[in-house]
Amino acid sequence: MKVIDLINERIRNNQTPFYSFEYFPPKTEKGVENLYERLDRMSALEPLWIDVTWGAGGSTSKLTLEICHNAQNFCGLETMMHLTCTNISVAEVKQALDQAKASGIQNILALRGDPPRGEAWTPGTEGLTRATDLVKLIRAEYGDYFCIAVAGYPEGHTEATSFEDDVVHLKSKMAAGADLIVTQLFYDTEIYREYVKSVRAAGITCPIIPGVLPIQGYAGFQRMTSLCRTKIPREITDSLEPIKNDDEMVKEYGVQLCMKMCRELIDMGSPGVHFYTLNLEKSTIKTLEGLELLSNDFAEKPLPWASHSQIRKG
Ligand code: FAD
Repeated sequence: MKVIDLINERIRNNQTPFYSFEYFPPKTEKGVENLYERLDRMSALEPLWIDVTWGAGGSTSKLTLEICHNAQNFCGLETMMHLTCTNISVAEVKQALDQAKASGIQNILALRGDPPRGEAWTPGTEGLTRATDLVKLIRAEYGDYFCIAVAGYPEGHTEATSFEDDVVHLKSKMAAGADLIVTQLFYDTEIYREYVKSVRAAGITCPIIPGVLPIQGYAGFQRMTSLCRTKIPREITDSLEPIKNDDEMVKEYGVQLCMKMCRELIDMGSPGVHFYTLNLEKSTIKTLEGLELLSNDFAEKPLPWASHSQIRKG
């Protein structure tokens, strides 16, 4: 099913806020096996959808497609496949979309992508330069078959000439046929509130789903937020400083902070929250438990998925 239809139905019926989970293709075979087991377990949480990243420059394309196929067909999960248009030909894009379609996947997160590490970004060939071009191509080739999500940046994209320009460019992605926006991570919910106001003022009416990353470790948090140039409120820096060497305390703080952020986002009217899981489950589950968003019987429920021995290996 299309994620946009699922979201709109929940909004129409005034249902409790939903959640979705992002995963990335692991580097090792053991990692892939662990991920399938995690997908099995986490499907019992009934996320509205899960999505799988597309490695920089298409580096994980085969595995992304394989994980998406298995999540959609064997784990009972509505799946969204990320797809980038950096370092990829139109023929390869179509091949990936054909494969996704053949797997029954109806949801694509259309992105420009980043260049492989250490390389500067250069405009694509064959007219695939920005995410807007990819959205246009998907609509031109596949009509309404896919629900298309695009990325939004509450603090502005790092390469944008200005925050205002970035919102204008977001609008062109919507005009090209995108259905919803999933945001970059952030830690200041007031920034998100202002972002939504700016996006709405620009005439964009689609659902905007905030992306949250529960802090799972101090070093990782530092690395990720400096990579994305995320603003960290003083209160968070001050709370982390005295506990930064205690992994368990950092994780627990991360859960409490994520719960607080999710409550604020839901109070602001967000229909759901998108979790950057980093392929880990505990912090996400604890956050959802704390928010009382999980169905009561999730722990006892018989697993609704097929055994992952049925899963297709690439
Ligand atoms: P675009 O929307 O094309 O924007 C890129 C930049 O170009 C922005 O600064 C924008 O303002 C500017 N721009 C757009 N149009 C124009 C124009 N006409 N003229 C001038 N400037 C313009 N990366 C991956 O490699 N794989 C993933 O799976 C992945 N998943 C992601 C998921 C989410 C939710 C998010 C937020 C990001 C993800 N990324 C991923 C990172 C993303 O690829 C990078 O942030 C990338 O640099 C921008 O992608 P975009 O789709 O936002 O680009």
